[in-house]
Amino acid sequence: MKKLSLTTKILIGIILGLIVGVILNLFLPELFKTLNNYLFDPISVLFIKAIKMVVVPLVFFSLVAGAAGIADPKKLGRIGIKTIVLYILTTAVAITIALILANFIEPGVGTSIEKPAEKPKIEAAPSMKDTLLNIIPENPVSAMANADMLQIIFFALLFGIGMALLGNKVDQVRQFIEQGNEIMLKLVTIIMACAPYAAFALMARAVGQAGIDLIGSMAWYMITLILALIVHMGITYSALLSLFAKYNPIQFFKKMGRAMEVAFTTSSSAATLPVTMDVAEKDFNVPKSISSFVLPLGATINMDGTAIMQGVAALFIAQLYGIPLGLEEQLVIILTATLASIGTAAVPGAGLIMLTMVLQSVGLPVEGIAIVLGVDRLLDMSRTATNITGDVCVAVVVAKGEKDKEEQVA
Ligand code: ASP
Repeated sequence: MKKLSLTTKILIGIILGLIVGVILNLFLPELFKTLNNYLFDPISVLFIKAIKMVVVPLVFFSLVAGAAGIADPKKLGRIGIKTIVLYILTTAVAITIALILANFIEPGVGTSIEKPAEKPKIEAAPSMKDTLLNIIPENPVSAMANADMLQIIFFALLFGIGMALLGNKVDQVRQFIEQGNEIMLKLVTIIMACAPYAAFALMARAVGQAGIDLIGSMAWYMITLILALIVHMGITYSALLSLFAKYNPIQFFKKMGRAMEVAFTTSSSAATLPVTMDVAEKDFNVPKSISSFVLPLGATINMDGTAIMQGVAALFIAQLYGIPLGLEEQLVIILTATLASIGTAAVPGAGLIMLTMVLQSVGLPVEGIAIVLGVDRLLDMSRTATNITGDVCVAVVVAKGEKDKEEQVA
């Protein structure tokens, strides 16, 4: 058992959970109730609580560290601004594609899940205007205590910028933040080591409760998500490459294969970073001066695949619970998923943790995460491959722009 990779163990957990859930649902509903009460439900609840536990410190440390790096005055020139704008725009386009497909395919329609009793929702969903006005926290400590993610992100970014401006004077705090970040990433790895058992319990619980219909819906959820990833890479990246870098997209994807494979197997943009940089420099001739800034930053803040997952998952969960989401709420999803993907750490499973924030922003039950969690690892692999492809795409476009500028000057 020890020799199996985490992914294989999770897969086994999912399949066993599915089988057990179906059998109990069809033939042994009474036994399901007992097992759910004493086994599936407690494991699921503990796992979700463990995930929620790390969200606030993880986002805070990782964003402060990221912002302190970006705000380095030497780095933040034309290249910096261009890179950040491209990163944010591609992410917003990615979620828009995700929402269009999820509205069209409706993966969660047809299966219904009971709303958790304690959540009297919908009326509570804030408007777009309120969401924007509430971004600045009156009190950062209460923002953290209430897990108000947008406010925490705002404060963390300012904190990081302040830190960068003070430079060497605040070296001790810098070290504290960097080490705090490392510790939180370690905690995520520890929590993820429990994922195979959690995947089993979550699948058995969800399928045992909702029956076989849910398996169909989950398959549609996965199809919608993967389709959105393919459309985003095939259209958005291809258009960027052909229009702004005069680069043949087919050649691009062929050369990306090596890095995408590593991303796929590790499910971590951070772990893939050395390969991503190697591919950008050797296969795409991106100068080191550009790749060494654009790619580490991209691995930290640019996660188009993650944003797509968060968009599709939010709509899927809303559909399962029968909660309608209007245009304004979907705009809030675009905003929060962009920020949530920026705040997502580049390690396996982190995107799902940040889904909490997207769900909360439109008043959807956070419990819904339990449903998508079971199959998340497979999707994590695919979205991580998309995440790093987006980083290299932007690096190629930025490098081409700089080369043209140099040639004009020469
Ligand atoms: N695993 C992803 C990455 O490292 C983040 C996520 O979970 O979406 O890029």
